[in-house]
Amino acid sequence: MINLVLFGPPGAGKGTQSQKLIEKYQLIHLSTGDLLRAEIAAQTELGLSAKKLMDQGILVPDEVVIGMIRNKIQDNRSAKGFIFDGFPRTVAQAEALDKMLQENGLAISGMIALEVNEAELVKRLLLRGQTSGRPDDQNEELVQKRVQEYNTKTRPVADFYAAQGKFTSINGIGEIEEIFANLCRVIDGWA
Ligand code: AMP
Repeated sequence: MINLVLFGPPGAGKGTQSQKLIEKYQLIHLSTGDLLRAEIAAQTELGLSAKKLMDQGILVPDEVVIGMIRNKIQDNRSAKGFIFDGFPRTVAQAEALDKMLQENGLAISGMIALEVNEAELVKRLLLRGQTSGRPDDQNEELVQKRVQEYNTKTRPVADFYAAQGKFTSINGIGEIEEIFANLCRVIDGWA
């Protein structure tokens, strides 16, 4: 079983690479951003309160995303593995994920970080904003806020996995296929 945490700041290419990885390795893609946007589209209470924070580029509370992931893991017990995309984003989420997996007899295989510099991220996110329809991709201030949230709250999650000997980082700038090949090389090394 492969349980991958695909890590990196907003705009690093996690979504794009996840789509290619789920196809190749037949994994379940769990993106908390996508799950939250589905809640917003369905106009649930959870979605409406999350939207207020998401529209400001601020992380939603840990218990909200942890609860969503718990449900998805339980719904997919027979999966070949999971890609966690945009989760965990805080050390508390990482600790909760380890515990949830352990309770199901599972564990994270490894975290792979996509390294992309800040100027490139802002450029990519604003470009995506022209077509994504995502309110949080629309203006530079908001994009900067999301990168700042990443730097302060999310970056330490890499150390959490490094301490377990489960951290690898690869260059996230270049051709999509080249980055994908580098990701596959790391994952195949876990088998
Ligand atoms: P994303 O699609 O991953 O860029 O997420 C969009 C927004 O959803 C983020 O800016 C946060 O407000 C929220 N979000 C997504 N995943 C998480 C998470 N794991 N923890 C807290 N907030 C999250």
